[in-house]
Amino acid sequence: MAHQPSILTSFYKEPGPKLDQESPFDSMMERFRFAADILQLDEGMFQYLASPVKQVIVSVPIVMDDGKIKVFEGFRVIHDNVLGPSKGGVRFAPDVHLDEVKALAAWMTWKCAVVNVPFGGAKGGIRCNPKELSKGELERLTRRYTANLLEVFGPDRDIPAPDMNTDEQVMAWIMDTYSMNSLRTETAVVTGKPIILGGSQGRKEATGRGVVTVTLAALSKMGLMPNKTTVVVQGFGNVGSVSAQLMYEQGAKVIAISDISGGYYNANGIDIPEAIKFMNDNNRSLEGYSNADPISNEDLLQLSCDVLIPAAKEDQINRHNAHKIDAKIVSEGANGPVTANADSILEDNGVMVIPDILANAGGVTVSYFEWVQDRQGYFWTEERVNRRLNRMMRSAFDNLYGVAEKHNITLRQAAYVYAIDRVAETLKLRGIYA
Ligand code: GLU
Repeated sequence: MAHQPSILTSFYKEPGPKLDQESPFDSMMERFRFAADILQLDEGMFQYLASPVKQVIVSVPIVMDDGKIKVFEGFRVIHDNVLGPSKGGVRFAPDVHLDEVKALAAWMTWKCAVVNVPFGGAKGGIRCNPKELSKGELERLTRRYTANLLEVFGPDRDIPAPDMNTDEQVMAWIMDTYSMNSLRTETAVVTGKPIILGGSQGRKEATGRGVVTVTLAALSKMGLMPNKTTVVVQGFGNVGSVSAQLMYEQGAKVIAISDISGGYYNANGIDIPEAIKFMNDNNRSLEGYSNADPISNEDLLQLSCDVLIPAAKEDQINRHNAHKIDAKIVSEGANGPVTANADSILEDNGVMVIPDILANAGGVTVSYFEWVQDRQGYFWTEERVNRRLNRMMRSAFDNLYGVAEKHNITLRQAAYVYAIDRVAETLKLRGIYA
């Protein structure tokens, strides 16, 4: 199916800056190669870590509400399972393709290694436009996708989670479909579930919370006070809105936000709790939000600010606009919002980039807590979840900051160096099964 621009992606693609046309997997590999060089990884190990363990493409037929059959394409890629069962979200979007899922799966491997959770990396997706599907169609799509991947998923094998356009309800359907087929309730097969079904307190906010923990750590390294900073947030979904809210609570001035309906700018600072309430009362959209001026996606990214949090899509900061970024810190809430081509431009301009595999690792960290709680059948308080999350994110930041200083490299390069070294060391100990 050819890519069709949709309302889900249009604001961030058109009329924004031209994309790099750089494949996400190539972007991932470029950074991987750099780190492999520093680590002097031998050729065999390089080959091993560059090759996904398993790439599954399934056709997902469902009966639509009008009685007609429609066939969708679904993907699940397990990049690596050296550190433990593979872990990663499932996204529903019109432009999901194998190359993207492969890159996202590899990023999950490095992300889990960066925060020291005992998981490998995976990612899945279904190419569809969820805005055009009824709830019943979404349920049938999710259940058939899960049924087609019963041999891949499992609490000790591969554990899906929410990602772009998938939520707690979708996770509940995955859990139920898997459980029905295993003849027992198997809550630990998926994370990001509703709390009543074995989900974890704090999971929903975890990614945004983690973004803010590492952003505050970076600000303090720069000697900047959070209550004296200006913040721009691109994307107002789960990650963007929570990041904006928590930065606002720290006293930061959030001068611009955006979602698929457009960008909203107010030099005096946006009242984030009010904007979130507006969005919730308005079918989860900022459309019509009037306490700010409209701003294009391109201009929003180029605003002068202390912290820019891209929390929308991949490839937003690329070689066409990287030199115009006027932020001290770019904290990657989304996966892959900065292309490999843009890395060196930002570095030359002295922008500190907190890489996705660190910045947005709060989600998978609390997914790990959820999996642990499900397996123990013992559930933690929100306070305990948040405390442990903050501790793990802060120590991952400090660790990578130290690696970056030691090798005189960027935080992104440090994250890859640390993660790849960790996976390679584990692989050496396990050896190659023959
Ligand atoms: N989809 C999220 C991510 O990209 C969470 C994955 C998970 O919790 O397994 O990090």
